[in-house]
Amino acid sequence: MELPDGADGSAGVAYSDGALVPISQATISVLDWGFSHSDVTYDVVHVWKGAFFRLDDHLDRFERSCANLRLDPGLSRDGIRDVLFACVRASGLRDAYVEMLCTRGVPPPGSRDPRHVQNRFMAYAIPFVWVLDLARQDRGARLHLADVPRISAGSVDPTVKNFHWGDMTRALFQALDLGADTTVLVDADGYVTEGPGFNVFAVSDGAIVTPDTGVLEGVTRASVRELCEEAGIPFTMGKLHPQALLSADEVFLSSTAGGIMPVSYINNRVLGVGRPGPVATQLRARYWQRHEEGWHATPVDYGDA
Ligand code: PLP
Repeated sequence: MELPDGADGSAGVAYSDGALVPISQATISVLDWGFSHSDVTYDVVHVWKGAFFRLDDHLDRFERSCANLRLDPGLSRDGIRDVLFACVRASGLRDAYVEMLCTRGVPPPGSRDPRHVQNRFMAYAIPFVWVLDLARQDRGARLHLADVPRISAGSVDPTVKNFHWGDMTRALFQALDLGADTTVLVDADGYVTEGPGFNVFAVSDGAIVTPDTGVLEGVTRASVRELCEEAGIPFTMGKLHPQALLSADEVFLSSTAGGIMPVSYINNRVLGVGRPGPVATQLRARYWQRHEEGWHATPVDYGDA
């Protein structure tokens, strides 16, 4: 699978309708329920210095998400894997944000029955995306604890990666209007959940707690857990009350699109000394160092590109 002769893939390459195209030419019908009903699931894996990171974990989660929503990508796991490699190879990108998605598709004219819709698989590779840029990570992000409740897990299962971002976008506007960098939402019972594109962790007395329910089971969260095991740092998943977040020694965020990202302010309250704390700093450095060492890496063969 290759781009048409002469096509430029440096801004990104997509797989659409069985072929590779420059990202600017990847389109979706306005009639696709993925667009009009958020009837879609997706996953994002990154490529760092020419290698996929934890690719099988992302493929596992994508398969679970598709099964949960009764979506059929129409490709085997190996077929999906081949498409992802083809997108990255054709783009030539060494650091990339790679997304696979499956939409419900376009229903037959007049039909409202999801069983009769041909599902649609797409994928793309674009330059690496940071949910928080490096300058913000270096100084520690300013986090706002939103008063917008997270969409109920009983309505939209947050363990299935989804496009129901109405709550997140509302909360993000609130945060940005107040001068914060990003936001974290609580559930209807008032417990901390997650933010737009990341899981949240509190460090108190050297031990880490992250919410166990009401959140996406982040692949980066699994990396945090493994790094904690290696470093002998106690790590638990459980309920996280906003007060525990506000009074934590340190807070950090985790995402495929950015890694392990320290927080230094919450709602204008200084955490620690208002700089990234020692635990977050250590885990962040270790996370990228382990990438250099080939941890969970699957190299891409770029041929001559
Ligand atoms: N929570 C939400 C809502 C997300 O969208 C994401 C990632 O995009 C995460 C958490 C972090 O998951 P991962 O570490 O697998 O990227």
